[in-house]
Amino acid sequence: MSYYIDKKFINLASGSLQQFKWKKEDLANCRCPICGDSTKNKTKARGYFYKKGNDFFYKCHNCGVGHSLYRFLETVSPLLKKDYALERWKAGENGNSNYKKPKGEDMFAGLSFKPKFKPNSVLLDDLTRIKDLEPSHKAYEFCKMRRIPEKFYNILYYTNDFGSWMRKLDPECLAVGAEERLVIPFFNKSGDVVGAQGRLLSFKGEETARFSARYITVKADKSIDRLWYGLWRVDPKKKVYVVEGPLDSLFIPNTIAMVGAGAIENLHDRLIGTEVVYVLDNEPRNKQIVNYMDRLINKDCKVCIWPSKIQEKDINDMIYTRSAKEIQKIIDKNTYSGLEARLHFRNWRKV
Ligand SMILES: [Zn+2]
Repeated sequence: MSYYIDKKFINLASGSLQQFKWKKEDLANCRCPICGDSTKNKTKARGYFYKKGNDFFYKCHNCGVGHSLYRFLETVSPLLKKDYALERWKAGENGNSNYKKPKGEDMFAGLSFKPKFKPNSVLLDDLTRIKDLEPSHKAYEFCKMRRIPEKFYNILYYTNDFGSWMRKLDPECLAVGAEERLVIPFFNKSGDVVGAQGRLLSFKGEETARFSARYITVKADKSIDRLWYGLWRVDPKKKVYVVEGPLDSLFIPNTIAMVGAGAIENLHDRLIGTEVVYVLDNEPRNKQIVNYMDRLINKDCKVCIWPSKIQEKDINDMIYTRSAKEIQKIIDKNTYSGLEARLHFRNWRKV
């Protein structure tokens, strides 16, 4: 049954997928809406829907993203995702493979970067800075709840219509509806907005808010294959930490977040010669993160391998029980490279 439901929803989504076609009964192909696929070659289509067991999955050979259909729909069309979840639930298929609680596993997947932008910081005029909101405002409360340092309230924004706003940034994107979101803009060197993440504002107690966290990333230019968050704020002469989530980066001094596809060991030119420590999420069962870690160690990069006493999966969760200073200490104490990293990595990974 799920096979037919999956197929139906792929067809429903296909209207907004460029060059979509069924290659075989259980194999469909399109340009990848997540990374935008090749910018040079408009006919390149490297996104695939394929069948495994009774479910369809999505895989892009350009950005490397691998999603269940649920995750795919969640990324490109949250509305369709809702219908999909409902329909599968009606068919009695909740708890099946496509229903795995989506995790923030691929903050690295999906995007790109090249410095070629039009000045568009006027875009920010449509948003409200968290700093300028009433403390009783939902978005303000959200930032408080997530314990984001107040000094960053001037670079975080709120919109009640993320869909319209993201269309302004990228008219060709698969926009969501009029959702209210926390907007985390990414800037280039000259302060232009080159992309943004919209984070769903949901309160159902802290934990639920964390797990219902939905990030949507939009970029101003399809040629961008990596978004750097905080790159222009850090001091490259000091140690720089690289994390996966922009919000995570706000807690530890001199930290950036990298959002995008491709080789994560390739750093921005600004960081050439900088001591860099990669701090990936503490998700030893997440294949993608384990693979990233493996790759970083192979490239002799410095990585933080979380000790087993840490149960939380990222800094944003750790901040509830530990101070930023303590977290930084843990990171520094557990930073390894080379053989030592390999050894600790072996103990840490669960897949
Ligand atoms: Zn892709």
